Order: sequence, then C-alpha cells, then structure tokens
Amino acid sequence: MRFFPVDKFFGLFSHDVGIDLGTAYTLVWVKGKGIVIREPSVIARNKKTKEVLAIGSSAKKMLGRTPASIETIRPLKDGVIADFDAAEAMLSFYIKKVHESGGYLPKIPRPKVVIGIPSGVTEVERRAVADAALDAGAREAHLIEEPTAAAIGAGLPVKSPEGIFVVDIGGGTSEIAIISMGGIVLGRSIRIAGDEMDEAIISYVRLKYSLLLGQPTAESVKIGIGSAVSGKDRFMVVRGRDLENGLPKSLKLSSGEIREALATIVQEIVASIVDTIGETPPELVSDIMEKGIVMAGGGSLLVGIDRAVCEATKMPVWVAEDPLTCVVRGCGKVLEDPGLLKKIRVSRGLR
Ligand code: ADP
Ligand code: MG
Repeated sequence: MRFFPVDKFFGLFSHDVGIDLGTAYTLVWVKGKGIVIREPSVIARNKKTKEVLAIGSSAKKMLGRTPASIETIRPLKDGVIADFDAAEAMLSFYIKKVHESGGYLPKIPRPKVVIGIPSGVTEVERRAVADAALDAGAREAHLIEEPTAAAIGAGLPVKSPEGIFVVDIGGGTSEIAIISMGGIVLGRSIRIAGDEMDEAIISYVRLKYSLLLGQPTAESVKIGIGSAVSGKDRFMVVRGRDLENGLPKSLKLSSGEIREALATIVQEIVASIVDTIGETPPELVSDIMEKGIVMAGGGSLLVGIDRAVCEATKMPVWVAEDPLTCVVRGCGKVLEDPGLLKKIRVSRGLR
C-alpha cells in the first residue's frame, strides 16, 4: 500500500508567489488567489537608525511631508536598484506577508518565488535580490527580466524562435526588447517613462503660469487629460502654488497644453523604439512586421501613444490587456508552468 506523501499533501497548500518589482508599483500574485497586493514601491525609514517605518501606500503618503529625521525612498528609482537595503526590506516584507498569511499549518511549505526585475539590473544585484528572497523565506527564487515577463503575461509565445517586440513603459524606465526563444535578443532600457512625463507637466505649468504643481497632481493630470496625439479637447482644473506670491491658486489646463508638455518625452520614447528596430536582425524585423509591437506598463495607457509608435515605425502596434499587471501575471504563468521556467532565461537562487 502506498501512502500519499506528506510533503505532496501539504504542497497543496503551497502559496507560490510572483512579484513584479516595478519602479513605481510592486505587485504580488499568489498561486490560487491571483493578484493580492498592488502597492507603490516606496519605503519610509529613519534616516539615522535605518529602521523601516512604513512600506507601500502608507510610505507614499509621507512623500514630501516627512520631518527631517525620516526619509522616503523609491528603491528602484531609475530601473536599477538605487538603494539595495530598501529594496531588500520591501521584498522581504511582501514575501513574509504572503507566507505568514498562509495560516497555522505547521508544515506549510516555503513558497517558490518568481520575481520580475528591470533588465538593467546587474548580475551581482540579481544574485542579491535572489538572496533577499531566500532570506525572507522563499524556497527557490527565480528572477526574470520584466520584458520577458510582460510578454508572457500578454500571452505571447516567448519560447518560439519568432521575434516578439515588447515595449514596457513604467514609472522610472521604458524597456524595449526583442524576445526570441525565451531570452532577450536585443534590448534597451531608457530612463524616460511615466515619472518624466509628470516632471514635464510640472515644468510646463511652472514656466507658462508660474504655478508649482505637486507630483501627484501632475500624475492625475497626465492620467486624466494626457495624450500623445491630438484629439477632442478636454479640460482639468488643478491647484498649485503661485510662485509669485506663494499662495494657492487654481488653474484650468487643456489636453492640448498637456500634449505639448508631453511631446518631447513621447518623441524620445518613440525614437528609441525606432533605433532598436534599426539594430534588429532582418529576419526578426519581418516577424515583427507581421506580429506587431506589443506595449505594456502604465505608460502605454497614455492616450494615443500606440498610434504615435505605429506612425513612426509603420508597424502594427497593440496595447496588452491590462498593461499594469502584465509582468506579475507573467510571473504567475511561469510559476504554474515548470516547462516554461526551464525554457526562459532566468537567474536562480536555491536553498
Ligand atoms: P513600474 O513597472 O515601473 O512600476 P507601471 O507599469 O506600474 O510602472 O506604470 C506606472 C506608471 O504608469 C506611472 O508613471 C503612472 O503615472 C503611469 N500611468 C498609469 N496609468 C496611466 C494612464 N492611464 N495614462 C498614462 N500614464 C499612466
Ligand atoms: Mg513594470
């Protein structure tokens, strides 16, 4: 008589975890549950003692409001790990949170973790991220590059030899990559993305109206009435500080003005895409001509950015379904499909 192995039994309760360690948002996917966490990638800590005070949205609320003794940090600011201790604290906070919510079963297995990281992260940093995940209680840590994860999340056949062209416009970086046979054949990561769009709006309004907007206001203007191509005029009233007398003032902005403010940023992203196509081997270019360019990341939601890319490249362009969650859903698919994990390029950590 054969017994059902105990480990296998408890394995049924395993809660393997997929994490998108984005520059703007961290998302966590748990096997059997889907996306359980979506929090800003921000931590607040004591400047002197380095004690972590808050992580996620509660830390973001402190941005720009903290006393001198507290600092708020975005650990992955420009698509590289800007502050390693902070990144590690954030990662282990979420892994522990998910692992501990697993309940009271004594033998609940440690989770297997797949983490999507910006492709600009160095090999040494990858090793360190994997170690941080293991320290936080992971049994295995696999790191995949965000563009690959985004493509998998968008349902594209990354294992096939046909080229896939992915553009992921996040907060801190835009990643442009051509994927074939599970790996990035050609890629570039530029530090021009959603954050720079917000900054462009801030400086436009400051120069034109002598009005200082906060970053959250600029971001809501971008999301509310921002666009990359001309369309129906829309308006939004914002509040900022009048730089002439220091007092609060309201102002009505039009979508035409915001398009003008964002034009340079959009052009730079588009130019980078065009350059990348120029460097792509001809066989892969013909695949892309046929299949098109897929866009992911929050920045791909900017109205008309797909059209701007299409006009400049003369290629079909489509925005992935739910572009903000593509990477984490891709990590989830990799966890559910061990065959896929074997076929794609990953950095690993095992314990
Ligand atoms: P990351 O992967 O770097 O964490 P995300 O893919 O989560 O970034 O995208 C975050 C960025 O997308 C932010 O800059 C945010 O302002 C921007 N964003 C979100 N929604 C929209 C929208 N509807 N239009 C334009 N930008 C958007
Ligand atoms: Mg991202």
